[in-house]
Amino acid sequence: MKVEDNLKEIQQKIDAACQRSGRNQDEVKIIAVTKYVSIERAQEAFDAGIKDLGENRDDGLLAKWEVLEDKPTWHFIGSLQSKKVKNIIDKAAYIHSLDRLSLAAEIQKRAIDPVNCLVQVNVSGEESKHGLPIEEVKSFISSLKPYTNIRVAGLMTMAPLTDDENLLRSCFRKLKGLQQDIQAMEEPFAPCTELSMGMSNDYTIAIEEGATMIRIGTALVGQ
Ligand SMILES: *Cc1c(COP(=O)(O)O)cnc(C)c1O
Repeated sequence: MKVEDNLKEIQQKIDAACQRSGRNQDEVKIIAVTKYVSIERAQEAFDAGIKDLGENRDDGLLAKWEVLEDKPTWHFIGSLQSKKVKNIIDKAAYIHSLDRLSLAAEIQKRAIDPVNCLVQVNVSGEESKHGLPIEEVKSFISSLKPYTNIRVAGLMTMAPLTDDENLLRSCFRKLKGLQQDIQAMEEPFAPCTELSMGMSNDYTIAIEEGATMIRIGTALVGQ
């Protein structure tokens, strides 16, 4: 399937989900997750009009950067080892996987300007998942204050791999609730306007629950 055709179908589902939840389509940004696919396929996604691309490994991002350079807005969406920060810091506009102070310290050290970071939250509590438990997120964000190169742009989560719509919905709803708690802190370094949630199998539910960034790989560019 051409990316363009997949995109049309996804766009229709996004529009319907926005309509159901009284949201505006332009509140929802599609990030094409290109981690499984070739550079050519990533280029095809970009040419189809998707300006935000996501990669979960530093070498994957660097390989695609060689060709696409800074034309797309790059999102780093995978768990990030501190020693890899220097490889992506001047390329990724958003880091979706901030989950510990040691990583914040490394970003602080390597960044020239403040970096848009999303704090990754393990809403479901599954042991296999990265991210902070919900109860720890507010104090974690408070402790980021001295790190002047970190801007908490939002929160990110990965929902459990399930077809249980109620479970998915409650997971996304909890992240939205947490976002509101953080916005109430009114910290200038933590505007927390973004909610990065929803993947190929659950993005319509995520949109209904407030997603502003959906990360789509399989359904858009394939595996
Ligand atoms: C791979 C990946 C995605 C995309 O998953 P699909 O199910 O293929 O849409 C989204 N977010 C993260 C963090 C990923 O690693």
